[in-house]
Amino acid sequence: MSYTLGGGLGILAREFGCAAGHVRRLEVATADGEVRRVTPEADPELYRALLGAGQNLGIVTELEIGLVPVRALYGGSLAFDGRVVDPAAPLRAYEAWTRTVPDGLTSSFAAVPYPDLPVLPPHLRGTYVVSVRVAHTGADGDALVAPLREIGPALSDTLRTMPYAESHTIHSDPDFPHASYGDSTVLRDLDVERAGELLRATGPGAPAMCVVQVNHLGGAPARPAPNAVPWREGRFLARLLRAGERARALLDPVFALPAEHTLGRSLNFAFGAGDRGAGLYEPETRKRLARVKEDYDPANLFRRNYGVSAAC
Ligand SMILES: Cc1cc2nc3c(=O)[nH]c(=O)nc-3n(C[C@H](O)[C@H](O)[C@H](O)COP(=O)(O)OP(=O)(O)OC[C@H]3O[C@@H](n4cnc5c(N)ncnc54)[C@H](O)[C@@H]3O)c2cc1C
Repeated sequence: MSYTLGGGLGILAREFGCAAGHVRRLEVATADGEVRRVTPEADPELYRALLGAGQNLGIVTELEIGLVPVRALYGGSLAFDGRVVDPAAPLRAYEAWTRTVPDGLTSSFAAVPYPDLPVLPPHLRGTYVVSVRVAHTGADGDALVAPLREIGPALSDTLRTMPYAESHTIHSDPDFPHASYGDSTVLRDLDVERAGELLRATGPGAPAMCVVQVNHLGGAPARPAPNAVPWREGRFLARLLRAGERARALLDPVFALPAEHTLGRSLNFAFGAGDRGAGLYEPETRKRLARVKEDYDPANLFRRNYGVSAAC
């Protein structure tokens, strides 16, 4: 539910847009106890605000979502050993490659230093894996990823045509709850030199395990839509997950990029970030959200989140 309320950047986002853009109708219980049926036609302001900041405005109990027919797709990941190659090199190649791909191809880069812990599978313990993940519904996937395969010897290459039902294997996200802090920044463009610094600061020598991800934006999410999902003009989303508060002091300066490079943060990737939500919306959107909040939740009943009321 809150994946969609926060925008919802899916594996085929550049082709089909964010999940929020497919919502036709919501049912929400607002602070006054009313259960409201919200559509873009009947209640455009509340509809627009719920999709991007819904956790502030009530408890959403139903979503009606339009589906897209995808039976199969081309995708997977290409992983490199970050202890053998400079992890900035695949990132540099990845960034250059994103300039050549069609809007219908969605991809991301990830750098994961696995600790040497017995809970991990033996082949991952103590490794540092940098990978590019790809999802594409077109028939030309193999040709499109050819430049990635030239980056160097891969640890693993799972790129293939697969049934959609296997698409969760592309990112292999953990399917169990795990405690982590996280933050994100939407970038006008990716400065690969700075990103290289980020990788060096967060790699195997970092004081706590950090996961860096860079999502290629643009395509369908960049198009106007009647919702509060911000920063559509961003070219990349840089995300950082850290296993403990200890890493925070290390990472905050890395995130403090000059304003000309960054647009703001992404709600879905701010986990325990510890402030009241600075940078989560464009100023104009934030003003609109504060007005809707005043109309539907003037006493700020729904406040255990990144707030949007004028006082926040
Ligand atoms: C491993 C992993 C991978 C992820 N990958 C992606 C990704 O690819 N794309 C993406 O966009 N996001 C991704 N996310 C982020 C995810 O979308 C957000 O963390 C989302 O908020 C999780 O929803 P939740 O219900 O579990 O969170 P919760 O922490 O339970 O809720 C988040 C917020 O929403 C509010 N909320 C919950 N339910 C409702 C409701 N019914 N009505 C109103 N408000 C509600 C809560 O009060 C809270 O403020 C990922 C997260 C993880 C952990």
